[in-house]
Amino acid sequence: MKMVNSAALKPSRVVIVGMGAVGTTTGYTLMLRQRSSELAFVDVNHDKATGEMLDMNHGLPFTGGVKVWAGDYSDCKDADIIIITAGASQKPGETRIDLLKKNASIFKEIIERITEVNSHGILLIATNPVDILSYTSWKQSGWPASRVIGSGTLLDSARFRYLIGKNKGIDPRSIHAHIIGEHGDSEVPVWSLANIAGTNLELDEETQQDIFDRTKNAAYEIINAKGATSYAIALALDRIVAAILGNEGSVLNVSTLLEDYNGVSDVYLGVPCVVDRNGVREILPLPLNETEKVAFQSSANKLKEQIAGLE
Ligand code: NAD
Repeated sequence: MKMVNSAALKPSRVVIVGMGAVGTTTGYTLMLRQRSSELAFVDVNHDKATGEMLDMNHGLPFTGGVKVWAGDYSDCKDADIIIITAGASQKPGETRIDLLKKNASIFKEIIERITEVNSHGILLIATNPVDILSYTSWKQSGWPASRVIGSGTLLDSARFRYLIGKNKGIDPRSIHAHIIGEHGDSEVPVWSLANIAGTNLELDEETQQDIFDRTKNAAYEIINAKGATSYAIALALDRIVAAILGNEGSVLNVSTLLEDYNGVSDVYLGVPCVVDRNGVREILPLPLNETEKVAFQSSANKLKEQIAGLE
């Protein structure tokens, strides 16, 4: 059957590897927003990928023509972006780092299968611990770091902006505030640069601490309540896909390889990056204050120790 693509869609293919809570919601978001003309789903559990594909295809009469199918790694050959959300997820009480050993070994095979057939695409990684798996994927793939991107602290920054906006009664899209560093327990709030249209936030220390604690612990709270996080991460991944396929040059807090950045080198961490058709085009320098710099360096050291443990 030949699908009719909407006029807005330029031919493009996104493959999602891992059709669990995050992969499925991401696929659904990409379909609703018509981000790419083709969407392929790959999962070790092919029946699950097939079921999700059928369910979404039955919605096409309401959304318009994105071609959606359940496939295998050969579909990565012509992919512009391969999103990886496969692997173990946090159970209540588990940290993201607790997932490292299991997911690092799953990733070895996944990256091998993808790079066997594709050398031109962009890898967009969400599986946790996302910064470390982005780093190992970059190393294993041999691709330029600009084309191996982790979702980083984009989700954390969105949670942060939402909570600040809620406190201030202002649309979170108008709040400029960053979480940087690890997507996890050592992440760093950059209060010194947070602002609303250039004006000071005027939040007292206690409120700042409360907003940051709720940002950092959001995943634990949601996983305890409903077992997984899915909607906001799907929208964050959709945002990165839009920036890439639309060649936007948008500034997003994704995880990227740092070299001599606020005293940090040879590790992937979330920082503001300019994202366009080539992936991470540029990393924006942040003039951190001394406290933020120390916290950022300690976040980097924590991840480097974990990477050294793997090697
Ligand atoms: P899930 O258990 O619902 O789904 C994981 C899927 O991966 C399953 O469908 C499973 O069959 C598949 N899978 C496992 N091994 C595979 C392999 N070798 N090849 C292909 N598919 C394989 O988990 P989830 O809730 O969707 O979370 C997925 C990952 O995303 C977790 O590591 C989670 O911690 C992470 N996550 C990251 C963020 C972020 O901000 N980066 C946010 C939420 C979740």
